[in-house]
Amino acid sequence: MEFCPNCGSRLEPKKTGVGNAFVLCCAKCNYTKQPLDKRATTGAVLQPKPKAFMTVIGQNDEVNTMTKIKKLCDKCGNDEVYVWMVQTRGGDEAMTQFMRCTKCGHTFREYA
Ligand SMILES: [Zn+2]
Ligand SMILES: [Zn+2]
Repeated sequence: MEFCPNCGSRLEPKKTGVGNAFVLCCAKCNYTKQPLDKRATTGAVLQPKPKAFMTVIGQNDEVNTMTKIKKLCDKCGNDEVYVWMVQTRGGDEAMTQFMRCTKCGHTFREYA
């Protein structure tokens, strides 16, 4: 419930004609409360999270410098995989451990 800052009357919802949007209007003095700008109202609280990012590596490059560990590839049975860590979100999520078979290139991940 909101009241008119000018005359203290109760503000009534009134259709704006734009979709189903409403504005609050004072029937007495015609004060209209402007719909709040979404960006302004949600800015602090609902700041969109930084876009998820993934490290994409080529099939042939970079991979040579990567760490290898002993781990069974469930695709070809090879027991050595490259391993690297990726943080998929802005820091509020655990690191995801990616692995790629040194033999067949099968890539999978494990949550650390
Ligand atoms: Zn009023
Ligand atoms: Zn494999």
